[in-house]
Order: sequence, then structure tokens, then C-alpha cells
Amino acid sequence: MSLKSMISQLPKVQKDFNIFTSYIKDAPITNRINDTPLSGKVGAIKDNIATKDFPTTCASNVLKTYNSPFDATVVELLKKDGAIIIGKTNLDEFGMGSLGLHTIFEPVRNPLNDNWCIGGSSSGSAAAVASRISDFALGTDTGGSVRLPSAYSAIYGFKPSYGRISRWGVVAFAQSLDTVGILANDIDTIKKVFQTLDKYDPRDPTSLNVELRDLLKENLLKVNTSDKIKIGIPKEFIQNELAPEIKQTFLKYIESLLKHNKYDVYPVSLPSIRDSLSIYYTLAPAEAASNLAKYDGIRYGTRDTKKPDIIDGDFYNTSRSNFGPEVKNRIILGNYNLCSEGYQNNFIKAQQLRVQMIDQFDKIFKFKNILTKNEPIYDIDFIISPTNLNLPPLIHQGSTISESNPLKEYMNDIFTIPMSLAGLPSISIPFVNSKPHGIQICTQYGNDEKLLEFVKDTM
Ligand code: GLN
Repeated sequence: MSLKSMISQLPKVQKDFNIFTSYIKDAPITNRINDTPLSGKVGAIKDNIATKDFPTTCASNVLKTYNSPFDATVVELLKKDGAIIIGKTNLDEFGMGSLGLHTIFEPVRNPLNDNWCIGGSSSGSAAAVASRISDFALGTDTGGSVRLPSAYSAIYGFKPSYGRISRWGVVAFAQSLDTVGILANDIDTIKKVFQTLDKYDPRDPTSLNVELRDLLKENLLKVNTSDKIKIGIPKEFIQNELAPEIKQTFLKYIESLLKHNKYDVYPVSLPSIRDSLSIYYTLAPAEAASNLAKYDGIRYGTRDTKKPDIIDGDFYNTSRSNFGPEVKNRIILGNYNLCSEGYQNNFIKAQQLRVQMIDQFDKIFKFKNILTKNEPIYDIDFIISPTNLNLPPLIHQGSTISESNPLKEYMNDIFTIPMSLAGLPSISIPFVNSKPHGIQICTQYGNDEKLLEFVKDTM
């Protein structure tokens, strides 16, 4: 499809699925030579990533009118490599949510069936790819927000190792977990976009430095390719609540691996996985509460100049009340965990449990973690699990779930959060039966290229 005809379809696609928060109206005039790696590729960007050419709203009333004076590093890199950015995509406010319903815009509709939720929080990014209006999209994944909507829309969703893609210009939700991820309909596009973005960025203090990147390359060369590939299934991931259809796909996938004599499958145990939701919902809201403090109507955010800044003794009352209910929940929870009592009892404890979980992953994987230097005990190459526990709910069911019992919504990330806490690369690969779902494959920190190769070989 030519760029022009694709752009002419944007209003209809937007009307059908509420994918974008803003999008281009005319084809850009570009005199770029055609040999750039992403030349001709069309991309969409989650609207919590700063762009000069479009507003950056985070789907929040707090940033409804915000225009960034700069492009995030990832956007700069995409443009430099020739990609055309067609618009900013709808999301759960500030990336908080897993159904795509916590947005000030209309909820994103699933292009596979417009009554289904598409999952979140990178909902619009998944819909842009699933509707084929865009070749790829960038999302952000803090606890599963690239992988879950990818599973719900039957596309590939890749969350690289923490630190491999720059976060400079990405609006922080929980900075120790936030990772830019890539969504696409095929693994080759994911690879190409990853090659463009996988660069050290001095502007991001958590970007993986050049020495460690070189060490990863050296380790990659040492891999003996004639060895059988060992795949681990964590027994803690065996869930009674898993939807039967997803269970069936998972078992079939394991069977298909066993048919090759290239792969061996083993049960493994990572007991800390059981604590992952509690660790995540202690640490992520605490980081979020701190990150969101700057939206006070003075530094960032909207300010109602007709009302006083202090109402009934509360400072910034009018600006802060512009947050949506889910974001407010997180701020309250986060601040509780940062207050002296919560800090000692919960926050510190959660940090310790997070380290314990990383140590357990390090024991299982064949490769040494270049960040922790823990010695491996077993020699597992990849860990597999389903991506999602449930099949996509209907949009009206999703709203009832998130309003009546937020914990049920939080449960959606049960398989994806451990990898976020450990900073590990993981990808959701697509399956559809009666409804779309995904299988998640994950590997040791920094082993991103091998992960993509493995997926390519097995699909
Ligand atoms: N659903 C999780 C949350 O609401 C994860 C979100 C994300 O990865 N951005 O916190």
C-alpha cells in the first residue's frame, strides 16, 4: 500500500478502533535517500514517548495540551533510519493498566473483533499493527504492557533487556522497570527496528554502556551452536486459572518443540515468581508516585488560573485532581509505601525480594548475567510460559472488571511481571483459536539477539 493511500485510510481506521491520539494528515515531504535500514517502513509511537511533531498526552487530562520541544532518542533514531511516523497511539493513562480502558480518549477497540478489549497499556500500538495500518509500533513495557496487548491482538510484542533501548524522552512510569518495546506482525521487522534502537545513549543514565555491550557481543561469539537448546518451564507458572484454550496452545507448542531433536524441555523452579505481583505493586506505584509529583500545574500539567492553588489547605488541589482514578490509586498506594512505616515494612522488603528473584533466574540460565555476575548452576537457554492468563474480555466486561475489582485487572500480568522485575528480554508470540492469545519466551539478560533467532527458528 502506498503511503498516500495508507494516510487516506487513517480517519476510517481511527473511527473504527480509536487507535491514535493524533495522526498525520498528509504524506511528509522527504528527500531521504532510499538505502536507510527502515526506509519505507511506517511506524506508530505510544503517546507517552515525546515527539516534536505530535502532542504527547499520556492519555491524561494532566498533559492534554502538552507539546514536547524535542523528540525522544528512539524517535530520533527511527527518523534517522528512514521510518515514517504516522501518529501517536492511545494508551492506559501514563501506562497504568492492562486493558486499554483507562484513557481520556475512547477505549481502543480490537481490530480482530471490535467488541473485544485489546489489552494494555500499549493498546493503540497493538491495534495499529494488528489493523495493518502500520508496519511496526513502539510501546512501553513496565510489567507487560507490550506483551499483553500483543497477545490479545495476535501479533509479536518484544520487550528487550532493560537498558538496551534508551528511555530518554519516554515519560517515566516506574523508571527501574520501564522499557521501550517493539510490536510488529513479523519477527524480521522486530529485528530491524531493534537494530536501529539498540544503541548506547549518554542522555539516559540507565542505558547499557559500551563496555558491557561489547562484553555481550563477546559472550555471544562463545556460544556453541551444536549444543541442544534447553527450554525451561517454571512450575510456579502452572496456574489452575489458565484459560483452557491457552493451555491447549501451550501444550501443543511444547510438543512441537519436542518433535525437533534440536530442543530439550525441562521443568524448572523459580519460587520467587509467586511474589512477583506483590513486589511489582509495591515498587512500581512508589516510583510512579515520585515521578508524577512534577505534574503540579507549575512544572508540568494544567493549572486552572481561576481557582486558588490552595483549597482547604491542600496545595495544587485543582491540578492534581486532573489525574484519572487508576493513576490516583497508584499515587496513594505508592506514597503509602514510601512513608516511613510502609518504606520499612514494604518497600525495602520488596527490593530484597526483587534481588532474590534475579538471583534465582541467574542460577537457571546457562549464561552469566553480565550485571550481577552470579554463577549459573543450570544451563537453560530459554524459559517459556503463556503470555496471558485469560482470553481478551469484551470491552464492557473489561470495564466492569477494572471498576469492581482492580486486583483482577492486575492479575493479567502474572506471567509478564517477573521478567520486568529481572530486566530480562522477553517476547510474546501470537496464536489464535477462538480468540487471540500468546506464548511468552524469555532468556538471560542481554541475550536479546538469540531470543529473536530462536523465535524465528521455531515459528
Ligand atoms: N498492567 C501493569 C500496570 O498497570 C503494567 C503496565 C505497563 O507495563 N506499563 O502497572
